[in-house]
Amino acid sequence: MREPSIYEKSTPTFANEYIPQLAHRDLTDFLPPHLIADRPPELPRVSEREVVKHYTRLSQKNFSIDTGFYPLGSCTMKYNPKVNDWAAFLPGLAQIHPYQPASTVQGALKLIYDLGIVLCEITGLSEASLQPAAGAHGELTGILMIRAYHAAHGQIDQRRVVLVPDSAHGTNPATATMAGYIVKEVRSNSEGLVDLDHLKELLDDSTAALMLTNPNTVGLFEENILEIARLVHEAGGLLYYDGANLNAIAGIARPGDMGFDVVHLNLHKTFSTPHGGGGPGCGPVVANAKLAPFLPKPRIGKEIGKEGDRYYLESDYPQSIGRIKGFYGNFGVMVRAYTYITTLGADGLRQSSQDAILNANYLRHLLADYYTPSHNHKPCMHEFVVSALKQKKAGTSAGAIAKRLLDYGFHSPTMYWPAIVPEALMIEPTETETPTTLREFADALIKIDQEIAQDPDFVNHAPHNLAIGRVDEAKAARNPKLVWS
Ligand SMILES: *Cc1c(COP(=O)(O)O)cnc(C)c1O
Repeated sequence: MREPSIYEKSTPTFANEYIPQLAHRDLTDFLPPHLIADRPPELPRVSEREVVKHYTRLSQKNFSIDTGFYPLGSCTMKYNPKVNDWAAFLPGLAQIHPYQPASTVQGALKLIYDLGIVLCEITGLSEASLQPAAGAHGELTGILMIRAYHAAHGQIDQRRVVLVPDSAHGTNPATATMAGYIVKEVRSNSEGLVDLDHLKELLDDSTAALMLTNPNTVGLFEENILEIARLVHEAGGLLYYDGANLNAIAGIARPGDMGFDVVHLNLHKTFSTPHGGGGPGCGPVVANAKLAPFLPKPRIGKEIGKEGDRYYLESDYPQSIGRIKGFYGNFGVMVRAYTYITTLGADGLRQSSQDAILNANYLRHLLADYYTPSHNHKPCMHEFVVSALKQKKAGTSAGAIAKRLLDYGFHSPTMYWPAIVPEALMIEPTETETPTTLREFADALIKIDQEIAQDPDFVNHAPHNLAIGRVDEAKAARNPKLVWS
């Protein structure tokens, strides 16, 4: 089970002959002198065959979306059709350079332009920027736009508060703080929705914005959203929509129609591109006419001509918050999203949202007798939260259940979040799983519940069947050893 490091596999006498030699030129011809060491680096000496075996084995120790069910809530770890990768790797798209003149990358500019239009249609808003590199980056962009809006209206000193529900994704308060705002938390009511009375109490002429996601992070649709939007706008604030997880509403409902002024989307969640590895991502920001002047620049313009359309970069936006990412953003992610959306079409997009909701409700139903659903009074959207409080009282924890799931071949759900649910397990099955997989996953969780009843410590010491058992997570985070010695 143990895979030695590549250095341990090294044989000192072995010649790495397959590594190409720079035979024709002396390195000193083109390297600055301070980068040249007096002896070559000590690379491990292993055959190519050993290298391939080593890294392939290592890659298989990771849990991956292509090999197993990955129900990580609020992350949309769905299967991403391989045709999207095929498109992103087409040489005409993958091998262009951001410094090329616009006239030589017309196809790429058209793709970004058209994708922006599609995202406007999906969100019900009027203009998009695809520059931000991630969801959190999109949030910062959107909040900076809101700040610029208030500045343009002479209210920057007065409107200093951003309201965030207590169920919000951690990036929301972090974003607002980073943009210089005071964050105030809006309570959830017993149904898991925004407490309207508390919201009214908090709203006044210091309110810059409310950041919200709908469906919220316990997987419920904020049914009072129109009333919420009216209250916030009446107080002179703006509405920010965290659209990282559009899986529940894409093709069905639109943030713009709910009254939101600006949204960010995570193309690397809802619109293909696997993001479990941590990047690259793309977090487009889409705004209504009120906030569009503040979007980042440059933007892509389109000129309709007799000999065909021409796309160009336009920077003449005096109110723009400026550039927030080098060049155009993460283009490969855009190609995947574009391919994904065009293969599905409007009907397919709606269908995938409906299937995501159906799968989540089916799984919640399968588990309801064993794990306490957090808010069970109405159907959930694309995800749901259960509380493992019953299992905790029996001597174990949500974390131990997550570890034991690995023994059954499943990745853990999101744990201990949202914080308003004790011992939370947040489960998002996505539309790409079969009913059989959902039943197998439910069976594993039910078996674990029975194991806990018999011997909680057995579960507390899981995983039992993997290469590595319990690691000291705090030590790994605080004292990482990144160098082999
Ligand atoms: C994932 C997520 C984010 C952050 O997106 P990143 O791309 O990881 O920065 C923000 N909000 C919600 C609700 C999310 O699920």
